[in-house]
Amino acid sequence: MTLVNLATVLSKAKEGKYAVGAFNATDLNTARGIVEAAEQEKSPIILQFAESHSKYISLEQAANMYLDLATRACVPICVHLDHGENFNTIIRAIKLGFTSVMVDASLKPFEENIQNTKEIVKIAQSLGISVEAELGVMNAEDGSGSLDYNTMDDTYTSVQEAKEFVQKTKIDALAIAFGTVHGLYKKEPNLNYERIKAIQNCTDMPLVMHGGSGLSNEEYQQSVANGITKINYYSTMSFEVTNGLRNYLNSNSDAFLFDVDAKTIELVKNNIAEKIQIFGSSNKA
Ligand SMILES: [Zn+2]
Repeated sequence: MTLVNLATVLSKAKEGKYAVGAFNATDLNTARGIVEAAEQEKSPIILQFAESHSKYISLEQAANMYLDLATRACVPICVHLDHGENFNTIIRAIKLGFTSVMVDASLKPFEENIQNTKEIVKIAQSLGISVEAELGVMNAEDGSGSLDYNTMDDTYTSVQEAKEFVQKTKIDALAIAFGTVHGLYKKEPNLNYERIKAIQNCTDMPLVMHGGSGLSNEEYQQSVANGITKINYYSTMSFEVTNGLRNYLNSNSDAFLFDVDAKTIELVKNNIAEKIQIFGSSNKA
C-alpha cells in the first residue's frame, strides 16, 4: 500500500477501464489537499512535481514532502516527475526516491526521442521505477487564444510511430497528442478519440492525457473509454482554487495565515475529489 510505481497503478486502471488522476503541486498545502481528496475517495493517485515548476519549489523539497505524504497515506500514491527534460533532473529524481519519471524528449527528432528514453528506461526500470515518455507535439495555450484546435492534426501522435516507439523503448506509459493543449482552453477543444483507440489497439500500453484541464465530463469519459488511463490535471485547479481564496479573503478580513492554509487545503481537496469521481477511480484503492 501507499508508495507505488506508475506501472502498478496504471495496469490496474487499464484493466478496470478507469483513469488515475495525476496532480501537480507546488507547495505543501496543495499536496495535502490532493492526498486528502484521494483518501476521501479511496482512490489511487499520482502526485507530480513538474521540472518547469522548479522556480516555485525545488525537486529536493518536493521529494521530501510528497514522499512523506505518500508513505503515510492509506491509499496507493505514485510520486512522479512530470516533464523531465534534463537527464540530470531525472537521475536526481530517481536518487531521491520518486517511483516514476517522465522523459520529455518529444520535441527532439523521433530517433533521438527513442535513444534518450531508452537510456532512462534502462536505469529506472532496474530500480523498479516506472517511465512515461511522450510522442507527438502537445500544444500550449499562451493566453492569446491564437491556437486553432481544428488544424492541429499534423502534430498528433502517429499510430505507426507509437507502435515502433513502445516496442523499442519498453516504457510503462505513453503520453499522446490527440487534441488536448496545456493550460486553459480559449476555444472549444476538438478531441480525436479514434486516434486514442488506434494507438491503444496497436501498442496495448497505458496512455496518458496531458492538458487535461477544462474538459467537459463527457470529454474525460470518452477519452477514458478509448484508452486513456492517466490524466494530467493542474491548470483549472490552480485557477479555481485561487478564485476561491480571493472570495474567502474578500469576506474574511480577520483571517490569519493559518486560516488561509486550511482554506487552501479544503478548496484543493474538493476540486480534486470531483475530478477523481469523473475519472472513475473512486473506491479503486
Ligand atoms: Zn504535460
